[in-house]
Amino acid sequence: MKTTHVTENLIQLTRLGFVNAYLVREDDGFTLVDTTTGGGADDLIGAARRAGGEIRRIVLTHGHGDHVGSLDALRDRLGAGVEVLMPELDARIHAGEKVVEGKLPGSWPKLATAPDVRLTGGERVGSLEVVPAPGHTPGHVALLDARDRSLLAGDTYTSFGRVEVTARYYWRFPLATMATWDRDVDVQSARDLRAVDPSLLVVGHGPAVRAPGAAMDAAIARAAH
Ligand SMILES: [Zn+2]
Repeated sequence: MKTTHVTENLIQLTRLGFVNAYLVREDDGFTLVDTTTGGGADDLIGAARRAGGEIRRIVLTHGHGDHVGSLDALRDRLGAGVEVLMPELDARIHAGEKVVEGKLPGSWPKLATAPDVRLTGGERVGSLEVVPAPGHTPGHVALLDARDRSLLAGDTYTSFGRVEVTARYYWRFPLATMATWDRDVDVQSARDLRAVDPSLLVVGHGPAVRAPGAAMDAAIARAAH
Protein backbone atom coordinates (compact mmCIF):
# COMPACT_ATOMS: atom_id res chain seq x y z
CA MET A 1 0.00 0.00 0.00
CA LYS A 2 1.24 3.45 -0.93
CA THR A 3 0.93 6.33 1.55
CA THR A 4 0.84 9.92 0.29
CA HIS A 5 0.71 12.87 2.70
CA VAL A 6 -1.48 15.23 0.66
CA THR A 7 -1.93 17.92 3.33
CA GLU A 8 -1.22 18.00 7.05
CA ASN A 9 -4.77 16.72 7.67
CA LEU A 10 -5.14 14.36 4.71
CA ILE A 11 -3.32 11.13 3.93
CA GLN A 12 -4.03 9.17 0.76
CA LEU A 13 -3.73 5.39 0.97
CA THR A 14 -3.53 3.60 -2.37
CA ARG A 15 -3.90 -0.15 -2.80
CA LEU A 16 -3.33 -2.21 -5.94
CA GLY A 17 -2.17 0.97 -7.66
CA PHE A 18 -5.69 2.26 -8.34
CA VAL A 19 -7.97 2.25 -5.28
CA ASN A 20 -7.77 5.06 -2.72
CA ALA A 21 -8.89 5.43 0.87
CA TYR A 22 -8.14 8.50 2.99
CA LEU A 23 -7.19 9.26 6.58
CA VAL A 24 -8.53 12.62 7.74
CA ARG A 25 -6.80 13.88 10.86
CA GLU A 26 -9.02 15.01 13.75
CA ASP A 27 -8.29 15.87 17.38
CA ASP A 28 -9.20 12.34 18.53
CA GLY A 29 -7.40 10.40 15.78
CA PHE A 30 -8.49 9.68 12.20
CA THR A 31 -11.63 9.44 10.17
CA LEU A 32 -11.10 6.77 7.51
CA VAL A 33 -12.91 7.60 4.28
CA ASP A 34 -13.55 4.39 2.30
CA THR A 35 -11.82 1.08 2.93
CA THR A 36 -10.64 -0.10 -0.53
CA THR A 37 -11.13 -3.71 -1.62
CA GLY A 38 -10.96 -6.74 0.66
CA GLY A 39 -7.73 -7.61 2.46
CA GLY A 40 -6.76 -4.05 3.36
CA ALA A 41 -7.72 -3.80 7.02
CA ASP A 42 -4.29 -4.43 8.58
CA ASP A 43 -2.56 -2.03 6.17
CA LEU A 44 -5.16 0.70 6.80
CA ILE A 45 -4.89 0.36 10.58
CA GLY A 46 -1.10 0.29 10.34
CA ALA A 47 -1.04 3.43 8.21
CA ALA A 48 -3.12 5.30 10.79
CA ARG A 49 -0.80 4.20 13.62
CA ARG A 50 2.30 5.20 11.68
CA ALA A 51 0.69 8.61 11.15
CA GLY A 52 0.22 8.91 14.91
CA GLY A 53 -3.38 7.94 15.64
CA GLU A 54 -6.16 5.40 15.66
CA ILE A 55 -9.09 5.10 13.26
CA ARG A 56 -12.05 6.53 15.20
CA ARG A 57 -14.78 6.37 12.56
CA ILE A 58 -15.28 5.07 9.03
CA VAL A 59 -17.21 7.01 6.39
CA LEU A 60 -18.12 5.34 3.11
CA THR A 61 -18.68 7.54 0.06
CA HIS A 62 -20.77 4.76 -1.48
CA GLY A 63 -21.47 1.06 -1.31
CA HIS A 64 -19.38 -0.38 -4.13
CA GLY A 65 -17.02 -3.24 -3.30
CA ASP A 66 -13.82 -1.30 -4.00
CA HIS A 67 -14.85 1.17 -1.24
CA VAL A 68 -16.52 -1.09 1.35
CA GLY A 69 -14.34 -4.16 0.71
CA SER A 70 -12.38 -4.05 3.99
CA LEU A 71 -15.24 -2.73 6.15
CA ASP A 72 -16.16 -6.00 7.86
CA ALA A 73 -12.51 -6.83 8.66
CA LEU A 74 -11.97 -3.31 10.04
CA ARG A 75 -15.07 -3.66 12.21
CA ASP A 76 -13.77 -6.99 13.51
CA ARG A 77 -10.36 -5.59 14.40
CA LEU A 78 -11.41 -2.14 15.65
CA GLY A 79 -14.61 -3.10 17.44
CA ALA A 80 -18.05 -1.57 17.69
CA GLY A 81 -16.69 1.63 19.23
CA VAL A 82 -15.62 2.74 15.77
CA GLU A 83 -18.65 4.37 14.20
CA VAL A 84 -19.54 3.42 10.61
CA LEU A 85 -21.35 5.96 8.43
CA MET A 86 -22.78 5.14 5.00
CA PRO A 87 -25.10 6.94 2.59
CA GLU A 88 -28.76 6.16 3.29
CA LEU A 89 -29.73 4.73 -0.10
CA ASP A 90 -26.58 2.64 -0.45
CA ALA A 91 -27.12 1.29 3.08
CA ARG A 92 -30.67 0.31 2.10
CA ILE A 93 -29.34 -1.43 -1.03
CA HIS A 94 -26.89 -3.36 1.15
CA ALA A 95 -29.77 -4.22 3.46
CA GLY A 96 -31.50 -5.89 0.52
CA GLU A 97 -34.05 -3.19 -0.33
CA LYS A 98 -34.83 -2.40 -3.92
CA VAL A 99 -34.53 1.38 -3.98
CA VAL A 100 -34.25 2.00 -7.73
CA GLU A 101 -35.72 0.51 -10.89
CA GLY A 102 -33.63 -1.85 -12.95
CA LYS A 103 -30.29 -3.47 -12.30
CA LEU A 104 -27.65 -1.57 -10.35
CA PRO A 105 -24.22 -1.54 -11.98
CA GLY A 106 -21.03 -2.06 -9.99
CA SER A 107 -20.21 -4.62 -7.33
CA TRP A 108 -22.36 -4.79 -4.19
CA PRO A 109 -20.68 -7.42 -1.98
CA LYS A 110 -22.49 -8.90 1.00
CA LEU A 111 -21.63 -6.92 4.15
CA ALA A 112 -21.99 -8.15 7.71
CA THR A 113 -21.56 -4.60 9.04
CA ALA A 114 -24.65 -2.41 9.14
CA PRO A 115 -23.83 1.29 9.40
CA ASP A 116 -24.41 3.07 12.72
CA VAL A 117 -25.37 6.25 10.86
CA ARG A 118 -27.05 6.67 7.49
CA LEU A 119 -26.01 9.85 5.67
CA THR A 120 -28.26 11.92 3.43
CA GLY A 121 -26.14 15.08 3.14
CA GLY A 122 -25.75 18.12 5.34
CA GLU A 123 -24.34 16.18 8.28
CA ARG A 124 -21.06 17.09 9.90
CA VAL A 125 -18.54 14.32 10.64
CA GLY A 126 -15.68 15.90 12.57
CA SER A 127 -14.28 18.51 10.19
CA LEU A 128 -16.06 17.00 7.19
CA GLU A 129 -19.32 18.27 5.73
CA VAL A 130 -21.35 15.61 3.94
CA VAL A 131 -22.31 16.78 0.43
CA PRO A 132 -24.89 14.73 -1.49
CA ALA A 133 -23.43 13.59 -4.82
CA PRO A 134 -25.69 10.85 -6.22
CA GLY A 135 -25.27 9.36 -9.67
CA HIS A 136 -22.31 6.99 -9.47
CA THR A 137 -24.53 5.15 -6.99
CA PRO A 138 -28.01 6.23 -5.78
CA GLY A 139 -26.76 7.41 -2.38
CA HIS A 140 -23.18 8.48 -3.19
CA VAL A 141 -21.83 11.35 -1.03
CA ALA A 142 -18.76 13.55 -1.10
CA LEU A 143 -17.00 15.12 1.91
CA LEU A 144 -15.73 18.68 2.21
CA ASP A 145 -13.11 19.47 4.85
CA ALA A 146 -14.32 22.78 6.28
CA ARG A 147 -10.80 23.64 7.47
CA ASP A 148 -9.29 24.07 4.02
CA ARG A 149 -11.99 23.15 1.47
CA SER A 150 -10.34 19.89 0.49
CA LEU A 151 -13.01 17.86 -1.32
CA LEU A 152 -13.09 14.07 -1.05
CA ALA A 153 -15.25 13.44 -4.09
CA GLY A 154 -15.46 9.63 -4.06
CA ASP A 155 -16.29 8.33 -7.53
CA THR A 156 -18.07 11.39 -8.94
CA TYR A 157 -14.73 12.23 -10.54
CA THR A 158 -11.61 10.25 -11.40
CA SER A 159 -8.16 11.75 -11.98
CA PHE A 160 -6.04 9.22 -13.88
CA GLY A 161 -4.43 11.13 -16.72
CA ARG A 162 -6.78 14.07 -16.18
CA VAL A 163 -9.89 14.92 -14.19
CA GLU A 164 -13.01 13.29 -15.64
CA VAL A 165 -16.59 12.93 -14.47
CA THR A 166 -17.31 9.22 -14.06
CA ALA A 167 -20.37 9.64 -16.32
CA ARG A 168 -17.99 10.06 -19.24
CA TYR A 169 -16.18 7.05 -20.62
CA TYR A 170 -12.43 7.66 -20.48
CA TRP A 171 -9.94 5.03 -21.57
CA ARG A 172 -7.67 5.53 -18.53
CA PHE A 173 -10.32 4.19 -16.15
CA PRO A 174 -13.42 2.79 -17.89
CA LEU A 175 -14.45 0.73 -14.84
CA ALA A 176 -15.76 3.81 -13.05
CA THR A 177 -18.04 4.68 -15.95
CA MET A 178 -19.28 1.13 -16.35
CA ALA A 179 -20.16 1.10 -12.65
CA THR A 180 -22.06 4.43 -12.76
CA TRP A 181 -25.78 4.10 -12.06
CA ASP A 182 -27.22 7.31 -13.60
CA ARG A 183 -24.96 9.41 -15.81
CA ASP A 184 -27.19 12.52 -15.93
CA VAL A 185 -27.52 12.60 -12.15
CA ASP A 186 -23.76 12.03 -11.89
CA VAL A 187 -23.03 15.06 -14.10
CA GLN A 188 -25.36 17.23 -12.01
CA SER A 189 -23.50 16.11 -8.89
CA ALA A 190 -20.20 16.94 -10.60
CA ARG A 191 -21.56 20.48 -11.07
CA ASP A 192 -22.71 20.65 -7.44
CA LEU A 193 -19.23 19.61 -6.27
CA ARG A 194 -17.59 22.19 -8.51
CA ALA A 195 -19.89 24.80 -6.94
CA VAL A 196 -18.45 24.23 -3.46
CA ASP A 197 -15.21 25.70 -4.88
CA PRO A 198 -12.74 23.13 -3.54
CA SER A 199 -9.09 24.02 -3.01
CA LEU A 200 -8.05 20.40 -3.52
CA LEU A 201 -9.75 17.44 -5.17
CA VAL A 202 -9.13 13.86 -4.10
CA VAL A 203 -11.01 10.90 -5.54
CA GLY A 204 -11.49 7.17 -5.25
CA HIS A 205 -9.30 6.49 -8.26
CA GLY A 206 -6.36 8.68 -9.25
CA PRO A 207 -3.98 11.23 -7.75
CA ALA A 208 -4.80 14.39 -5.79
CA VAL A 209 -5.39 17.57 -7.82
CA ARG A 210 -4.62 20.97 -6.31
CA ALA A 211 -6.59 24.09 -7.37
CA PRO A 212 -8.91 21.79 -9.38
CA GLY A 213 -11.52 24.34 -10.54
CA ALA A 214 -10.48 24.64 -14.18
CA ALA A 215 -9.96 20.89 -14.53
CA MET A 216 -13.40 20.21 -13.03
CA ASP A 217 -14.98 22.77 -15.39
CA ALA A 218 -13.36 21.09 -18.39
CA ALA A 219 -14.44 17.64 -17.19
CA ILE A 220 -18.04 18.80 -16.74
CA ALA A 221 -18.04 20.35 -20.22
CA ARG A 222 -16.80 17.07 -21.75
CA ALA A 223 -19.31 14.99 -19.81
CA ALA A 224 -22.34 17.23 -20.32
CA HIS A 225 -22.90 16.76 -24.06
ZN1 LIG B 1 -14.63 3.07 -7.03
